[in-house]
Amino acid sequence: MLRLFRALLAPILIVLSLSPAVAEGWSKATNTADPVEETGADAGDISPEDAALYMAQDAVLSIFYHEMGHALIDILQAPVLGLEEDAADVLSALLINELWDEESSEAKLRATAAFWAASASETMTSGEMQLNYGVHSPDDRRYFTYVCLWYGASPETREAVAIELGLPEDRAMSCPDEFDLANRSWGPFLDRAYRAGAGSSLIWEGPDPEDDPFAAMLVEEVDYLNSLLSLPQDLTITLASCGEANAFYDPSVVGVTMCTEITEWAMDVAYNQ
Ligand SMILES: [Zn+2]
Repeated sequence: MLRLFRALLAPILIVLSLSPAVAEGWSKATNTADPVEETGADAGDISPEDAALYMAQDAVLSIFYHEMGHALIDILQAPVLGLEEDAADVLSALLINELWDEESSEAKLRATAAFWAASASETMTSGEMQLNYGVHSPDDRRYFTYVCLWYGASPETREAVAIELGLPEDRAMSCPDEFDLANRSWGPFLDRAYRAGAGSSLIWEGPDPEDDPFAAMLVEEVDYLNSLLSLPQDLTITLASCGEANAFYDPSVVGVTMCTEITEWAMDVAYNQ
């Protein structure tokens, strides 16, 4: 697998308190978990509004990566030996780990975890039944998929964050192997796209990036992915109102639609952290 790191685009301030930080590591060699700290050299200078926006953009990016999973499964005819929705989450977790430097990757993981924790919490407080017959895994399970794979990619450096985010040691033990299997499974398909080289197969069809900060983030991502890889078929990406907080890949038009409603929901989550 290629390892690609890009610079932090903006300083990120994430304050997340899903569970109290645990003061002990799992492994003897590990330091105690640090308290949640501001990340980014001048994170303290960010306004709360900007901090919330960056966090929401990070969560929406992970959803975009999930939709890229559906797109790659379709376009590259990747086999899915399990639920496709889980496979798409796995790709998203891999890209969060692989495409970003450590600080940015951690910020994206935290934002994604906060998003799924908030969604799980809303389901619980609304009294709705968990829809276990649905195609998606329950939100809290999706939360742990992301945390486990991110931790498993570098257990020697990410234990404190994983503990802070509530990953139980019982699950953590298998995360490095889970990451390796995920990497081995998606790797050949990603490598195929990387080997095809830079191109223009991802096509932005959304609003002007100057008009919407989420459009700006997605355009930047489209440009970045085009600089790294090519797909054998054009894939359109748009941001549009859908009438619900959602995002989807439509194989009939080979296009990803990110709904403006999900960006609004991500902003609500970020503001309520
Ligand atoms: Zn999906």
